[in-house]
Amino acid sequence: MAEHYPIEIAPPDITPYRKGNTGVEYVTVLDSGKPGPNVMIQALTHGNEFCGAIAMDCMFREGVRPERGTLTLAFANVAAYARFDFDAPNRSRYIDEDYNRVWGDDQLTGLRDSTELRRARELSRFVDQAELLLDLHSMHEPCRPIMVCARSEKSIAFARRIGVPADLLVDTGHPAGLRMIERGAFSDPASPRTAVLIECGQHWEKNSADVAIDTTLRFLRASGIVDEAFVAPRLRLEPPAVQRVIRVTEPVVAQSMNFRFAGPYKGLEVIGRAGTPVASDGEKVWRTPYDDCVLVMPSMAHLKPGTTMVRLGRYA
Ligand SMILES: [Zn+2]
Repeated sequence: MAEHYPIEIAPPDITPYRKGNTGVEYVTVLDSGKPGPNVMIQALTHGNEFCGAIAMDCMFREGVRPERGTLTLAFANVAAYARFDFDAPNRSRYIDEDYNRVWGDDQLTGLRDSTELRRARELSRFVDQAELLLDLHSMHEPCRPIMVCARSEKSIAFARRIGVPADLLVDTGHPAGLRMIERGAFSDPASPRTAVLIECGQHWEKNSADVAIDTTLRFLRASGIVDEAFVAPRLRLEPPAVQRVIRVTEPVVAQSMNFRFAGPYKGLEVIGRAGTPVASDGEKVWRTPYDDCVLVMPSMAHLKPGTTMVRLGRYA
C-alpha cells in the first residue's frame, strides 16, 4: 500500500450529472431566462482533485439557481476520475496528458489527439462563452488555500471581490502549455472576461471540501447571478481579514532524479534570508534569491527532469 496523507473525504458519485442538458456529458447549463452574466464553474480539471466535485455535487443537491444570467457546471476530466484509487492517486490526475496544459488554440485546433484534448475540445465552447470562470483544484501537500490569478490583474481584483482566500498568486504559467484560466480573452487586460483557479488545500482534507464549497458560494455571490438568500446560510468559513498577493519570480526546475528539497516544505513557507539553500540537484544548489522568499506549491510528487518542483515568489 502506498504512503499517503489521511483520507478524510470520499470521492462523490457524479453519475447523476452524466446526462446533463447540453449534449455534452457532465455539463449542465442553468439558464435564468433573464439577462446577466455567463458564469462557469469547473471541477475535476485534474481527476484526483475531487473536493471540487464535492462542491459541485453540493450545489446541485442544494438546488442552486441563477436569478439572472446563466450558470454552467462542468465536471472536466471524468475519464481520469473514473479510475480514482487512493493508493495511486497520480494515476487519476489525467489519462494521457494534463488537461490543464492544452488550452492554446495551437493545441485545441491542432491535429494531435488525446483523451484530454478530446474533452477540452468538447468543453471549449462553454469556456469561450464564460464571462466569469472558477476552476476548482486541490494540492498534493497540505497548504493554505491559494487563488491562482495567472498574470491577470483583473483576476486579482475579482479574487478580492470574492473575498477568499488570504493568498492570491500571480505566476508565470507553465512552459508545458496554456491553462484554462489563461485562455484567450481571460489573458487580455482589455476584455472584462475573468478567470480564477482555487487550490483548496490537500487533496483529501475535509477542509479542502469546505474551502471548495465556501469559495464556490462566494464566487457565485461576486458574480451577481445567485441571490444572497442562497449564499449566506451555506457559507462555511470566516473570510480572511486581508488578502495578500504573491508574485512568482522564477520556477525551480528539476534537472535529474537526484532533486531534493532542503526541508519538509508544504507550501507558503517564507524564507527570511537571501542565499538560504532550499533544494539541491546533484552538485547544483538552489538558494533563495532575495529576503522573505515564499515557496509556492513545493512537491516531490511529479519528480522528473524538466518538471517545476517549486516556484519562488514574494509578497507584493
Ligand atoms: Zn490541479
